[in-house]
Amino acid sequence: MTAAAFAAVFKSNQMSIQLIESSEIGIVGVGEATLPHIRFFNRRIGLDERELMAKTQATFKLGIEFRDWARLGDSYIHPFGVFGGKMAGVPFHNYWLRQRAQGVDSDIESYSLPIMASRANKFAPPSEDHTSVMSTFGYAFQFDASLYAAYLRGVSEKRGVKRTDGKIVDARLRAEDGWVEAVKLADGSEIAGDFFIDCSGFRGLLIEQALKTGYDEWTKWLPCDRAAAMPCENFGPLTPYTRATAREAGWQWRIPLQHRTGNGYVYSSKFISDDEAASKLVSRVDGKPQADPRFLRFTAGRRKQTWNRNVVAIGLAGGFLEPLESTSIHLIQVAITTLIDYMSERTLSGDGAFDPRIVSAYNRWIEMEYDRVRDFLILHYHATEREDTPLWQYCRHMQIPDSLQHKMELFRRRARVVTYKDGLFLEPSWLAVYFGQRVMPDGYDPLADAVDGAQLAQRMNTVREQIAQAVTQMPTHEEFLAQYCPAEKIAMKAMA
Ligand SMILES: Cc1cc2nc3c(=O)[nH]c(=O)nc-3n(C[C@H](O)[C@H](O)[C@H](O)COP(=O)(O)OP(=O)(O)OC[C@H]3O[C@@H](n4cnc5c(N)ncnc54)[C@H](O)[C@@H]3O)c2cc1C
Repeated sequence: MTAAAFAAVFKSNQMSIQLIESSEIGIVGVGEATLPHIRFFNRRIGLDERELMAKTQATFKLGIEFRDWARLGDSYIHPFGVFGGKMAGVPFHNYWLRQRAQGVDSDIESYSLPIMASRANKFAPPSEDHTSVMSTFGYAFQFDASLYAAYLRGVSEKRGVKRTDGKIVDARLRAEDGWVEAVKLADGSEIAGDFFIDCSGFRGLLIEQALKTGYDEWTKWLPCDRAAAMPCENFGPLTPYTRATAREAGWQWRIPLQHRTGNGYVYSSKFISDDEAASKLVSRVDGKPQADPRFLRFTAGRRKQTWNRNVVAIGLAGGFLEPLESTSIHLIQVAITTLIDYMSERTLSGDGAFDPRIVSAYNRWIEMEYDRVRDFLILHYHATEREDTPLWQYCRHMQIPDSLQHKMELFRRRARVVTYKDGLFLEPSWLAVYFGQRVMPDGYDPLADAVDGAQLAQRMNTVREQIAQAVTQMPTHEEFLAQYCPAEKIAMKAMA
């Protein structure tokens, strides 16, 4: 992603880009669910959506279904779209809360088009007409991350990126200030550079092994530290959403692609063994398994600085929260686009050093992005009534960061969602999780009382009806995929 984006933005007379990767080591390969912002990234680097989807066996994603999080038997969807819409400048949920307080019990889901479409397994792209209910949502992809990486490698090479397949065994640092001058490969050769982007995954080859930058660990709030992943054959309709089901010691993902379904059990090694997690996963997937479970280990957190000297760490080398809410590829995108913006400025001072103000501004930005995502993820674990297993007992009673405590108190007391101009998850996302996980406010914004009761009832009905009608007219997800971006069957045969 980084090489493709840099090659799309900078001309060859501005920089020459070398991509070093090791086919012996390979990529982590999981990371199948994305967020809507990836469409803007793909567009910015000039990718054709239909081609990309066909090449990566992609399906559409309108949100994530969460099962069993607050209580066993619960199900809610975090949609990529709004609930209702603003009325008289007041956020919609206040009207819903007002009606609820007066005994009108309508389901919040019925005010969200992407939720209703997901429940019906329907998909159509959003409309550009802002007066249409079809403009109230966005979408992302569920794709094969290995095919996406291979596709972007091809795109990068066509744009002049020079690729070397080799294993880096060491880094040469400049004696006076510890800047990286070159990386050493297993065959004895060296590749020198002015600026290094460390995308080496959990290893953090340059940022940690060479520069010893340090890591802030968040396991006390995000206790899962392992995953067992396993694909299976598709079973039932292709859902236009990812599913995350809370389990005894973590949660299980289910991501349907055109050629297979990705599954994984993300768990805390304190509360379940690898063998037990793997056997639970195998017994709970929908279709016939296509491989044995593969284990991955991680530590939730982020690098203390993702830009250190002349190295910027992007991807797992920079940090990893955990797979819930599919934020990792998004954080890669944020890092790339932010870095490109900063690099486009006068980053280098006369003597070849980076302007320290740029470096610290970049680091602060990335920290903010990670910290805000972190709080949102912790909310899922903490806002539970479950006490049925030691993991959920721990999560329910754990101390949470002050920043999240503040957000939850404001919502409980005033039905207010802390909003910010930048950052990933905005009001509809927080609302979906608060309501979905039974965090209910004591009241609502009194301004919502300004609308006449009968008029309000009529407007709420209209919103629901417009959504229901729009969903009826949408094709099924499978019908839309078949005409928009059918994937090459070749990949299916290879898997069989
Ligand atoms: C269990 C799990 C589930 C996930 N699910 C999602 C999801 O649904 N959505 C999402 O957005 N993200 C998800 N992620 C995160 C996602 O997988 C990663 O963000 C993404 O794959 C990018 O990884 P990366 O490129 O940083 O690292 P990697 O994929 O590990 O790539 C590292 C690269 O560095 C190269 N390399 C490493 N060492 C050397 C060396 N010594 N010499 C030369 N080359 C080297 C490798 O060859 C490889 O090309 C998940 C992660 C995990 C662990």
